[in-house]
Amino acid sequence: MAYVKVSEVLQLAIKANTAVMAFNCIDYSTVRSVITVAEEVNKPVICMLYPEHVIKYNWINLEGFVSMVKTEAEKVKVPVAVHLDHCSDFDFIIRAIKAGFLSVMYDGSLLPLEENIRNTREVTRVAHAFGADVEAELGHVGFASTLTDQSDVDKYTKPEIAALFCEQSKCDSVAVAIGSAHGFYKETPKLDLVRLEEIDRATDVPLVLHGGSGIPNDQLEIAFTKGINKFNVGTEFLWLYYQTVRNYDGTDIAGLANTVQKKLMEYLREKMKLSKF
Ligand SMILES: [Zn+2]
Repeated sequence: MAYVKVSEVLQLAIKANTAVMAFNCIDYSTVRSVITVAEEVNKPVICMLYPEHVIKYNWINLEGFVSMVKTEAEKVKVPVAVHLDHCSDFDFIIRAIKAGFLSVMYDGSLLPLEENIRNTREVTRVAHAFGADVEAELGHVGFASTLTDQSDVDKYTKPEIAALFCEQSKCDSVAVAIGSAHGFYKETPKLDLVRLEEIDRATDVPLVLHGGSGIPNDQLEIAFTKGINKFNVGTEFLWLYYQTVRNYDGTDIAGLANTVQKKLMEYLREKMKLSKF
């Protein structure tokens, strides 16, 4: 049985001085591929659910997602955790915790600092009472489609504020803005690794890097030894899924699921090499 909390996996990552990979999953094929490959390469992993996938289309429920991850996790030896990705809706976070998510992200990164601290603190107060962990975001990791989000230093996490933020919000981990962005990059990102080191020195919680689709591996390898303990990947993983479905020319729906899983697993085997457990 290897279903564990995100905080346990993060502790393992700290010990190994690396990052645990966290993939945005949407269904059984994604969850099964992630957990199967994690077991194969003998590394911990995190399956994440992006709330918008639930809210926008309402085709998967929170309880169903948790039990799917749990069932698959219990079949393997490597630690597997489940996490709710970016959410700024307090009520939805409570629903997710009630549904079994033992780790949630509260994203108040677009709010003024004081409000981000206040809201994150409110979420941590409730989440901790239920034994759940909270990832917060400081600075703002925007979208790669908007070039300025990626290169706007004003939106980057400031080390001295990070120390105050973590102390006051009581978050368990924090997503930092150091030059990455969500989606596909128009320009190769250049992570601010000096800033990362400063944030790491100023804080004592694990740091999280978002926008993991397209950052050069050499930069990631350095970032993972300088305080990044969780690395989120969504876009390129889900895009591969979509492309595989599009290019499938068979008529057998089970064959399609099988093809999708094979493709995702090939990708995951390669991507998980970055995680040096
Ligand atoms: Zn993100």
